[in-house]
Amino acid sequence: MTHVFYRNSRSTPPKAIRGDGAYIYDDTGKQYLDGSGGAAVSCLGHSDPDVIAAVQTQVASLDFAHTGFFTSEPAEALAERLIAHAPEGLDKVYFVSGGSEAVETALKMARQYCVEIGEPQRTRFISRRQSYHGNTLGALAVGGNVWRKAQFAPLLAETSHIAPCYAYRGQEEDESLEAYGQRVADELETELLRVGPETVIAFIAEPVVGATLGAVPAVPGYFKRIREICDRHGVLLILDEVMCGMGRTGTLFACEQDGVAPDILTIAKGLGAGYQPIGATLCSARIHAAFAQGSGFFQHGHTYIGHPVACAAGHAVVTKLTEGGMVARAAQMGEKLDIALRDAFGNHPHIGDIRGRGMFRGLELVEDRTSKAPFDPARGINKRVKAAAFEAGLICYPMGGTVDGQRGDHVLLAPPFILTEDQIGELIEKLGIAFDAALA
Ligand code: PMP
Repeated sequence: MTHVFYRNSRSTPPKAIRGDGAYIYDDTGKQYLDGSGGAAVSCLGHSDPDVIAAVQTQVASLDFAHTGFFTSEPAEALAERLIAHAPEGLDKVYFVSGGSEAVETALKMARQYCVEIGEPQRTRFISRRQSYHGNTLGALAVGGNVWRKAQFAPLLAETSHIAPCYAYRGQEEDESLEAYGQRVADELETELLRVGPETVIAFIAEPVVGATLGAVPAVPGYFKRIREICDRHGVLLILDEVMCGMGRTGTLFACEQDGVAPDILTIAKGLGAGYQPIGATLCSARIHAAFAQGSGFFQHGHTYIGHPVACAAGHAVVTKLTEGGMVARAAQMGEKLDIALRDAFGNHPHIGDIRGRGMFRGLELVEDRTSKAPFDPARGINKRVKAAAFEAGLICYPMGGTVDGQRGDHVLLAPPFILTEDQIGELIEKLGIAFDAALA
C-alpha cells in the first residue's frame, strides 16, 4: 500500500534503494543496469563522489537564499561555465528546477521579448509533430505528441506544427538526405507565410528528438536552413536540449554538431545528472538587452530558481563533463555502443532503424523491415519490451507514438557516460533477451 501518487495509478513500482555507478538496486537486492539513465538524466552514473561532495559542501554552507534578494556563488559559477562553452551569442542563464520549467521559461521569455521590442502582435509558436517539450500547459501546447495532449487540448494555446526531420520515414526514394532536409525545413517558411510571419514569436525544436521519436538527429543542413528562415522573418529560434544536451550526443550542446546557434536554448536532465533537480534557459545578449532597456524585469519566476545546492551540483557535473573529459567519453563510448547495436541487431527482422549520436541511441521496432510497417498498437510492443528488459535487469526507455497517423514503437538508450565495454556487452545481451521475449 502506497500513498504516493504515481503515473501508473494501478500498480506500485519496486522500491529503489541504492545506486552505484551504472546500476540501481531495489529492496529485494535485484540489480538493474541503467541503460537509459532513467530518462536521459544520469549521465555520470549513480554514485559520483565529486558531485556528492559538492552537494554536501554547499548544503552545509548555504542551503537556500531567495533570488528576490540574492544571487549566489554556485549560480554565478555555473552560469559562467555554461556560457564559456555555449553556442555563439548565448550570454545569460536563467536557472529553474527541470525541463518543463526551462521550456515554459523559454516561451515566456520569447513572448515578453516581442512585447519589449514593440511587436506585441506576435502571439503564436510553431513547432514540429512528434515532439515533446514538457508537461506544463505551455510546454504541452508547443509539443506535437497527440496522445499526451489529447484531453488537455481545450486548455492549450494554439500552436501550429510542421513535419519532423525524420529521414527513416520521411525521405523519398529518389531524394538525397540534403534535399529531404531542405524540403522539410521549408515547411516552416510555408507555415509562416500561411499564418502571417509577423504573428509568430518563435519556432521550437529538439536538435535530436528524444522521447517521441527515439534519438532522431536532423539531417545535415536542416537546422541551418531553419535558422535562415527564422532570421528572414524575425522569428526566434528556441532549441530544446533538455534531453539531448549536456554531452549526451558527444558534444556539450547537441546543436554544435548542426552548426547553428539558437536565440534561446533549454537544458535540464543531465545538468543535474540526477543529483539535484535543475534546468536552465540560456538566451542571447540581444534578448536580455531588450528586457534591460525595456520594462527592466522578466515577468516570471519560481521560488526555487537558482537554488544554490542545485547549482552546486550542476557546477560539479559540468566540470566533470568538460574538464573531466566525460563529454569526450560519451562520444567515444557512444561509437562503441552504436557498433555493438549494429552487430547485434543490424539484421534483426523487427528492427528497422538504428540511429542516434553519442550515448543517445534509438532502435525503431517494426513488423516488417521492408515495408517499415509498424506493429499493431494493440500489441503494446514498447510496453512489452520495457517489462521484459526490466525483468532481465535492464532499464531502457521504450515508447510508441503517433507519426502522422502511423504508430511506431522504439527503444531509447541513454546510458551513463561511465559505461564500460563490458557493460555495453551486458546491455546488448539483456536487450536481446527482452526482444526475444517481447517480439516473439
Ligand atoms: N523537453 C524535452 C525535449 C524533454 O525530453 C523533456 C522530458 N522528457 C522535457 C522537455 C520536460 O522535462 P521535465 O520532465 O524535466 O519537466
